[in-house]
Amino acid sequence: MKARTIAIIGGGPAGAMTAEKLAEGWGLRGPGGNAHRVQVFEEKIGWEKPCGGGLSYKALRRYPFLEQAASGGNLLRTAEFIAPSGATMRFRLRVPLAVYSRAVLNQLLLRRAQKAGAEVVAERVLRLQRTSAGWEIRGREKIYRADFVVLAAGARTRLRQTLAPDFSPHDFMLTYGYYLPLSSDVLRVQFYEDFEGYAWAFPRTDHISVGICGKIGEDFMPALRNRLGDFMRKYGYSPDPRRVFSHLLPSLGVESWENLRLAGKGWALAGDAAGLVDPVTGEGIYYAMRSGDLLAEALLEDYPQAYPEKVRNEFGKALTLGARLARTFYHGEFLGSGVTTRMIEFGARSQKFLEIIQDLIEGSRSFPGLAARLYSGLARTLVETGASRLREAVQSPCFPSSSGEGGSHVRG
Ligand SMILES: Cc1cc2nc3c(=O)[nH]c(=O)nc-3n(C[C@H](O)[C@H](O)[C@H](O)COP(=O)(O)OP(=O)(O)OC[C@H]3O[C@@H](n4cnc5c(N)ncnc54)[C@H](O)[C@@H]3O)c2cc1C
Repeated sequence: MKARTIAIIGGGPAGAMTAEKLAEGWGLRGPGGNAHRVQVFEEKIGWEKPCGGGLSYKALRRYPFLEQAASGGNLLRTAEFIAPSGATMRFRLRVPLAVYSRAVLNQLLLRRAQKAGAEVVAERVLRLQRTSAGWEIRGREKIYRADFVVLAAGARTRLRQTLAPDFSPHDFMLTYGYYLPLSSDVLRVQFYEDFEGYAWAFPRTDHISVGICGKIGEDFMPALRNRLGDFMRKYGYSPDPRRVFSHLLPSLGVESWENLRLAGKGWALAGDAAGLVDPVTGEGIYYAMRSGDLLAEALLEDYPQAYPEKVRNEFGKALTLGARLARTFYHGEFLGSGVTTRMIEFGARSQKFLEIIQDLIEGSRSFPGLAARLYSGLARTLVETGASRLREAVQSPCFPSSSGEGGSHVRG
């Protein structure tokens, strides 16, 4: 393969992981090195990117360095889910969930990329322009050249317009929140009736990220802030206007998933810039890292055209199903109450159902299986709790029944 320069715009989880895996695969730090170059352009090195910072067990299993205490993540074993009705379920997680400050996580990932032989350039990229030989990358300071461009510049990047059609506003969630100097060992999530989004409190090692996300079109920002205000008052979190954040979170609709363009001649998109976020849970760090990993794999095989297929097969199809499921999950009803209310009420009564919730948090099951288990689990729990008026529905072939014991704690 002839020597190539790969320019990666954005040094978040997607860009840093692409860089690390490429540099490692090309042996840029190895004996003799070689003529390939991997450059990561990052305008805000080590910033506290607005985020919950939650990393599911799926991420810890795939990238074990994230679970090591020295990596700086807070490993949590207790979660609390609050239903729209106020019913609260506190339970022990089967496996830990890590919560990272994003400044710590981004620095960790960029250092790994540098160690593998990638160059980190502290520059804001202003423009990408195709040339006969590849790409011209116009930075604030200089003009750079590359053979291949990876856009990993996050959810808000305007550079996307140069490469692929823009997403619609309905492909995003609004978010708003605060970093508070508190400590806790409980991960807290509050759901709302008929609202696609949730409020969270995710404790890191030395502070808590408290925030709310809501699909664009559900609430305007003032209403979103009011919901968060109620949540914070209820749990005694005082807002600190000096440490406030707001950002966009991709949450692609089914049509956008189906028409997603991830790569073209001489370019590829990764992470949030590609819209690769779970539309139900808002989990994006894992998919950013994993998309960077898969892209590097395709580039190392000298066949970047394979990248979209790799993403589709590994998680794209499942997240498309997630997009179909999201509306039902947040707006749907089951037996006269919202799905999230039933999920929390039943999770507190049935061990089997609690396992489904654990799967959702761990990211250990794909959505097709999860959706079926969610509904069959709801139905099964009804049988266990003796809701006889629903036996007819439960006996339908979509709702197989079996038994299980309770395993968590609920307050109504
Ligand atoms: C409020 C909020 C809470 C969230 N909570 C969670 C959570 O708990 N768990 C989870 O898994 N996901 C969460 N997410 C999603 C997660 O933050 C993203 O999916 C993840 O950061 C995507 O990584 P990325 O590398 O694609 O993009 P980013 O992390 O956004 O990184 C992009 C990088 O590109 C740089 N950049 C942008 N433009 C340029 C430019 N022109 N030149 C140079 N550099 C540039 C930026 O400075 C940035 O560092 C949350 C998102 C939000 C908004």
